[in-house]
Amino acid sequence: MLADTVRDLTQMLGDQALITDPDDQAPFLHEWRDRYVGKAAAVVQPRTVDEVCRVLRFANDNGVPVVPQGGNTGLVGGQTPDQSGNAILLSLARLNRVREVDTVGGVITVDAGVVLQTLQDEADKADRLFPLSLGAEGSCMIGGNLSTNAGGTGVLAYGNTRDLVLGLEVALPDGRLWNGLSKLRKDNTGYDLKHLFIGAEGTLGVITGASLKLFPKPKGMRTAMIGITSPHEALKLFSLMQEVAGPALTAFEIMPRIAIDFLTRNMDGVRDPLEGEHAWYVLAEISSGRGEGDAEALLMQSMETSFEDGLVEDAVIAQSLDQANMFWAMRHGLSEAQKPEGGSIKHDVSVPVAAVADFLDEAIAAVVEMVPGCRPVPFGHLGDGNIHFNVSQPEGADRAAFLANYETMNERVHAITTRYGGSISAEHGIGQAKRDLLPGVKDAVALALMRTLKDAIDPKGIMNPGKVLADSR
Ligand SMILES: Cc1cc2nc3c(=O)[nH]c(=O)nc-3n(C[C@H](O)[C@H](O)[C@H](O)COP(=O)(O)OP(=O)(O)OC[C@H]3O[C@@H](n4cnc5c(N)ncnc54)[C@H](O)[C@@H]3O)c2cc1C
Repeated sequence: MLADTVRDLTQMLGDQALITDPDDQAPFLHEWRDRYVGKAAAVVQPRTVDEVCRVLRFANDNGVPVVPQGGNTGLVGGQTPDQSGNAILLSLARLNRVREVDTVGGVITVDAGVVLQTLQDEADKADRLFPLSLGAEGSCMIGGNLSTNAGGTGVLAYGNTRDLVLGLEVALPDGRLWNGLSKLRKDNTGYDLKHLFIGAEGTLGVITGASLKLFPKPKGMRTAMIGITSPHEALKLFSLMQEVAGPALTAFEIMPRIAIDFLTRNMDGVRDPLEGEHAWYVLAEISSGRGEGDAEALLMQSMETSFEDGLVEDAVIAQSLDQANMFWAMRHGLSEAQKPEGGSIKHDVSVPVAAVADFLDEAIAAVVEMVPGCRPVPFGHLGDGNIHFNVSQPEGADRAAFLANYETMNERVHAITTRYGGSISAEHGIGQAKRDLLPGVKDAVALALMRTLKDAIDPKGIMNPGKVLADSR
């Protein structure tokens, strides 16, 4: 059966399109943290949309599971096959053409395998902005971003990936191609099908192309690192900065003091950004369509008022692009900086913005009570109510013994999140990591509708089985 699959696909696509050697397959089958490792009959790398459709038709006819993969940076195991070795891993990496840049209409149309950073660079060359930005942008691909509805640091101003999409092209499980590559800003002709596939984590079809919104590039930007006493002050500061800057406030990220300690200890070239130590830090960014002077004025006005109101202990405004980039490198480097500190128990949660500070108080107290000495490092997109609630092991503790608390700590933090009306997966998705948690938190009617859609679009269940929803076969 597996040999037949490999033989037939090789005949269809040529042997250059298939990887069957286990060593060569390894980078596709190991998730970067090695938390998920799978097996595949073959890694298949189509070069054209038509080849994607033919592979899916073959898989559907023969009952072969298909696991789509972009940059393999997903954090919930959605892109990793199971251990059976029956699936084919469908890599979109070779489908990497920028199809069109339409500066007048503000639309860029790309293949699904275009790396996010390449997309940003293409927009930049056309003097436009593609605002999706996240730590994995050098590796993740737009098809993966769409399939996980990725968030990142630009959500406050520009929304999630879903908000940046005008149209999609999708290969369906039976091999048909849906060409929904619209450039329209308005189109009310029935169900908006693109939203079914955005955030579906490859369980309904394979995204092969997308038309995406471009924005004018800000003419001036200012970034500040701000020392504060608590997330409660951070929330007040957030309100104040929104009042002063309105939509020009394009990022508002929070991190605790221990994050700065980890960064200065574990990341090359990082210095403490402020002179004294502060319990919490905010990284805020103002982007102005008018110019540098306007961005500077808005930031200065925000800082003056917040100092007067006693919200801020200290602040430094980046004096150069290098310094601003360093602040962002610190923010993006936080997951890496945690690694040398031992085991880390992670939660990607969101709560209503106004509840973030109360949530943090409660969740921090809960995990410290569970594992005395553990080191909470909650950081992230306060402006979106999305906190990466990571907890590092106590100093010198046994890593495995600490990680044995993973499930119970997740349960405790998720229970607090749910009580605040929050989500147990703010931006990373469900994949295999949170699949069995979903029935406990999702409305039963919503779950039943999801199952109906899955069965209607993928009746043979070949698309990424066992991800998001339990395999019903
Ligand atoms: C350092 C780091 C920082 C990160 N920061 C953020 C962040 O700030 N915000 C955030 O949201 N995420 C973040 N992530 C998670 C990850 O980068 C995103 O989920 C990203 O969108 C995944 O893109 P990818 O191309 O790597 O997809 P993959 O990991 O390859 O796949 C992810 C899912 O999408 C499916 N898929 C991939 N391509 C397609 C396709 N063409 N058609 C159908 N299904 C497909 C896969 O089957 C899988 O279920 C981060 C990850 C890392 C490693």
